[in-house]
Amino acid sequence: MTASKLMSFLDEENAQLKAEGRLVKLRLLETAQKPVSVIDGKKVVNLTSNNYLDLADHPNLKKAAKDAIDRWGVGTAAVRPIIGTMTIHDDLEKKIAKFKGTEASVVFQSGFTVNVACCQSLMSSEKDLLISDELNHASIIDGARLAKAQRKVCRHKDMKHLKELLEGPESRAARRKMIVTDGVFSMDGDVAPLPEIVALAEKYEAFVMVDDAHASGVMGPNGRGTPSFFNLTDKVQIQIGTLSKAIAAIGGYVAGSQSLRDYLISVGRPFTFSSSHPPSVTATCSAAIDILLNEPQRIEKLWENAKLFKEGLKKLGFDTGASETPITPVIVGDTAKAQKFSARLFEEGVFALSICYPIVARGRDRLRTIVTSGHTPKDLEFALEKFGKVGRELGIVK
Ligand SMILES: *Cc1c(COP(=O)(O)O)cnc(C)c1O
Repeated sequence: MTASKLMSFLDEENAQLKAEGRLVKLRLLETAQKPVSVIDGKKVVNLTSNNYLDLADHPNLKKAAKDAIDRWGVGTAAVRPIIGTMTIHDDLEKKIAKFKGTEASVVFQSGFTVNVACCQSLMSSEKDLLISDELNHASIIDGARLAKAQRKVCRHKDMKHLKELLEGPESRAARRKMIVTDGVFSMDGDVAPLPEIVALAEKYEAFVMVDDAHASGVMGPNGRGTPSFFNLTDKVQIQIGTLSKAIAAIGGYVAGSQSLRDYLISVGRPFTFSSSHPPSVTATCSAAIDILLNEPQRIEKLWENAKLFKEGLKKLGFDTGASETPITPVIVGDTAKAQKFSARLFEEGVFALSICYPIVARGRDRLRTIVTSGHTPKDLEFALEKFGKVGRELGIVK
């Protein structure tokens, strides 16, 4: 039998995915990630990146990356605990800790790997209990699967359910308990009720891990994230952030106590077994944090744009769900219609990706939009006009 015959199941699997509308075709970005980009040969208002603060093409970040290459070379060729930690990596971790108001921080290769590492390493025994919101990110779900702990899924932001889980037999018997939540939920743009979560955590002696991938650079003073927004920095033991969204480079970090850092750099598997960031990435992240500190007006502009766009969508009659942040879903309800909506908008010069079942619940198929601080009022008005036009054409709004 030939090797290709052995792999023919892939054709069947792909045909199945295609039938379900889940076979991915990659779009090609022909410019930097910009508020108005060229995608597959077409100039479009780009409402689909996580480039919240328009830093992906910022001259300071590009210069920092180039200078770092000249000084440090292009890569580390080692994992962090062997000889993959340069002083530039250590400096960035100190800077992140200071920014987040914690004793220490550790940078991982991505937000995905830091979530996996924390869930797996901190919840290492059957005697532990991990409680996770049902809409948490895939990396938390996968991390929880790798953890040896008992796992409970809490209904989305349902504090009565969280209390029940914390009072349940698994919780009473547990050696350690960790509550994990996204700070800002990535598909709906709603915010975790951290004050209530923290109050329950304290009462039932659980610790709290908040994944602020979509809140870093977006919420709280200078974009410090949701614990800072709610004035709960001292009560959230584990703050996760990503360097791949607002920070516009790549990476993830955990900010917390020195002992948390000591532990994770010793046992975090992605940290131990996967190589460290090229110094250009590290330098880019550091320059981005300087911008958060020095140009808070970018964050103000982001929120102004989010308000303008969200209000415009509502005025047109669209259902924007529970969004409270620059992530604004436009709920369509059925997969074919959501895909058609996205395709027609693209023809009209607006890129807003459809997100469908099974990524979101059935009947909640949507376009997911994210404005950035770099969009001009003209870009957003153009996009709103097209949303209205195509929305009426497809009978989504009147
Ligand atoms: C994007 C995202 C991640 C993953 O971050 P990367 O740095 O892209 O790996 C983790 N958690 C949440 C909530 C996210 O939205």
